[in-house]
Amino acid sequence: MSAVLEAQGIRKSYRRREVLAVDRLALEAGRTVALLGPSGAGKSTLLAVLGLLERPDAGRIVFDGREVSAGDRKARLQIAAAFQRPWLFKGTVGENVGYGLALRGLPTADWRCRVAEALERVGLGGWEDRSALALSGGEAQRVALARALAVRPRVLLLDEPLASLDPVVKLRLAQDFARLLHEDGMTVLWVTHDHDEAALVADDVAVMREGRIVASGPADDVFLVPGDPWAAGFLGLEAPVAGVVAEVEEGVARIVCEGVDLFAVAPVEPGARVRLGVRPEDVVLFEAGANVPASSARNRLACVVRELEPAGVTFRAILECAGVRIAARVSRAAARELRLAPGAEVLAVFKATAVRVAEEPSSHEGASG
Ligand code: ADP
Ligand code: MG
Repeated sequence: MSAVLEAQGIRKSYRRREVLAVDRLALEAGRTVALLGPSGAGKSTLLAVLGLLERPDAGRIVFDGREVSAGDRKARLQIAAAFQRPWLFKGTVGENVGYGLALRGLPTADWRCRVAEALERVGLGGWEDRSALALSGGEAQRVALARALAVRPRVLLLDEPLASLDPVVKLRLAQDFARLLHEDGMTVLWVTHDHDEAALVADDVAVMREGRIVASGPADDVFLVPGDPWAAGFLGLEAPVAGVVAEVEEGVARIVCEGVDLFAVAPVEPGARVRLGVRPEDVVLFEAGANVPASSARNRLACVVRELEPAGVTFRAILECAGVRIAARVSRAAARELRLAPGAEVLAVFKATAVRVAEEPSSHEGASG
């Protein structure tokens, strides 16, 4: 794959405290990388370094195969950014969207056309003459995105673009933005501290903690079986479950984990040592002993609820079956119907395709059979 923009061996300190130690972060052409991490992890600093807005103490930034530095105006003009606060100035929406074009010295006629096109892209076609200061939070973020897109950048850097919006607007906008950036084949770094938002937008995910990237890769892999236990917790998962593949029949592996059989669709061989993950939203709960009709949901675990905690509008339940712990996301209605509480017994059901499997590197060593 070809990286459009890549950070290599980046180190940066403020007042002798190291805030960035990133060996590599690459933005591949046409893909969106979600950079996730708690506040203070170094996400904004890394974005600023990638955007040639900040100089690192050490390391290289490579843009289209060429090493570039913070002074490189030509490279900088091909990178657009948008931030949590849209920074709209007094004037019309059109003037705000055209701001980057004026900076780049584009003739007025082309400028109008580009502004109209960018507004159309973000769902605000024809809004040129409205006052920029009379917009809702969500509309203002659409305008900020239109401003970034209008310059037709090679790379788009978004620093918590939706963090100040209310949750409903936020998730709708995340979906809209992700779809249009995908359609445009844009190369994007999307910084957020919200894993639901990241799950909606990301092709690839990098999880940051204390200046370092502790887990990275395709979104499905990182979200389901993050290599790092801290990252698992941050992403709302229980730590991955370890197991050994007992047999594989018609592409479905039976994996023995802590005395429990789990079924997964995965390209593994008997004897392989693996780690498993199940996303909380893929687990459906029934009353203990319920007669669940046969279906493709091969995994049925009689569990005890160990913890139940509110998670936004839903609940998060930690379930235990023998030595296996999994998390489930439960609606409020379901939690009430099932009378969920710590100590309650439930039946957890999930498909073999919902179980993500990562093979341990030294998988076949010492495995029997
Ligand atoms: P994030 O975006 O993940 O919340 P930041 O990149 O903003 O994290 O900050 C990472 C760390 O660097 C924090 O501890 C922050 O206090 C520190 N930091 C950021 N910018 C500066 C600065 N200009 N001067 C001193 N410390 C800074
Ligand atoms: Mg930040």
